[in-house]
Amino acid sequence: MKEVVIIGAGPAGLVAAANLLKHGISVLVVEKEVFPRIVVGESLLPLSMEHFDEVGFLEPLKAAGFAVKPGARFVKGNLSVDFDFSQQFTNGWTWTWQVPRAEFDQVMANEVIKMGGEIEFGAKIESVEEEPGPLVKYLMNGREVEVQCDRIIDASGFGCVLPDKLGIEVTTGQYPNWAVFTHVQDKNKDKYPDPDRIVFDVVDQDLWIWMIPFSNGVTSVGVAGNKRHFKEKVENERGYFSSLIDGSDIFRERFKNMDMLFDPVWHRGYSRSTKVLHGKNWVLCGNCVEFLDPIFSSGVALATYSGLHASKLMVRQLNGEDVDMDLEYDEHIMQGIDLFRTYVDSWYSGKLQDIFFAKNLNKEFKAQICSVLSGYIYDMENPFVKKHKTALDALHKVLKIMDRSS
Ligand code: FAD
Repeated sequence: MKEVVIIGAGPAGLVAAANLLKHGISVLVVEKEVFPRIVVGESLLPLSMEHFDEVGFLEPLKAAGFAVKPGARFVKGNLSVDFDFSQQFTNGWTWTWQVPRAEFDQVMANEVIKMGGEIEFGAKIESVEEEPGPLVKYLMNGREVEVQCDRIIDASGFGCVLPDKLGIEVTTGQYPNWAVFTHVQDKNKDKYPDPDRIVFDVVDQDLWIWMIPFSNGVTSVGVAGNKRHFKEKVENERGYFSSLIDGSDIFRERFKNMDMLFDPVWHRGYSRSTKVLHGKNWVLCGNCVEFLDPIFSSGVALATYSGLHASKLMVRQLNGEDVDMDLEYDEHIMQGIDLFRTYVDSWYSGKLQDIFFAKNLNKEFKAQICSVLSGYIYDMENPFVKKHKTALDALHKVLKIMDRSS
């Protein structure tokens, strides 16, 4: 019998596992894939560094030598803006990493095992029973394994195991967006200035292309946006992907004749959300709660934040405390997600793009927005957090007026 079973060994599940182990709670992580596995979500936010530090992942992750991400660049036609995390409003981490997730998640998984956690790889959850006490059944090498536990954390990402098994309502398709990505051997990178900088090229109001260089000479390249920009059926995956990258004036030459390390991976219709975030003996975290859109690289930060927060509340519950999960978990997590929803909505409506690329964007406002892009979404001193919608709308109006009169 384990005290806590965690479904999924992504950032949410592994951060939660490490925190529980730190508090002397026994953990079994059940992961359907065999590591290392390819997964998207490679541009991190500084906020996650706090979580890695708190659970003991920071030093091993530093030792792995991932590429440092000091900020991000957005480009639209001949306009360009750099957000530098050291210039942000919030007093927080000023850098993070650009990571191939296969290796990154492996480092965290190794740490969990070193801390005494157990991880079953290649083990797919088949069923979950809530009563009389949680019982999890998974298939491993064709054999069914049953585990009784006190609590379950569902960190299965898009796998959405508990919502699926317990019939919890999931809403999908809030944004009509698709994405496709691959990794390339970035042979031409040294011909370009600032070659390791992460860049988002906005090729249309609802279409953008990312470039995330890693420290090993490989770069992640991906395209995301409204599905109207993509073919429904593709015969020559690699040829089609190259034609999408040809749509970018800044990436076309760098990735000409690119050497793709795997066939492009599609995410068709990735936005999804769950209304109920916890039950008597279980809690959802990471993407399993909600995923909106990758434009602000917020997925892993929300995963590590919610994984850590869920596990902290679980420690208190296992120590006999009565925790108000509606207030302390669901409402709190939804507050952060709602903020990102405002930013994503504002991005695709074009307002936030006007703000990013405005000639007259004041340094102070830019620093406050930069804090949101760093993941500091609970800093209530920041007006672009506290009154996110009002602040963005007001700034957009003022910039329009200034633009007209200049
Ligand atoms: P995951 O990392 O998905 O981990 C869940 C784990 O659960 C997986 O290992 C899976 O194998 C396992 N699992 C699933 N089902 C089962 C089952 N039945 N039994 C056992 N195990 C199971 N985020 C960023 O921060 N930066 C980015 O640049 C970024 N880019 C993105 C681009 C795209 C196109 C998309 C779609 C997302 C992007 N994201 C990005 C989001 C990011 O991928 C996720 O938010 C993040 O990985 C969530 O972490 P997680 O731990 O919740 O889930």
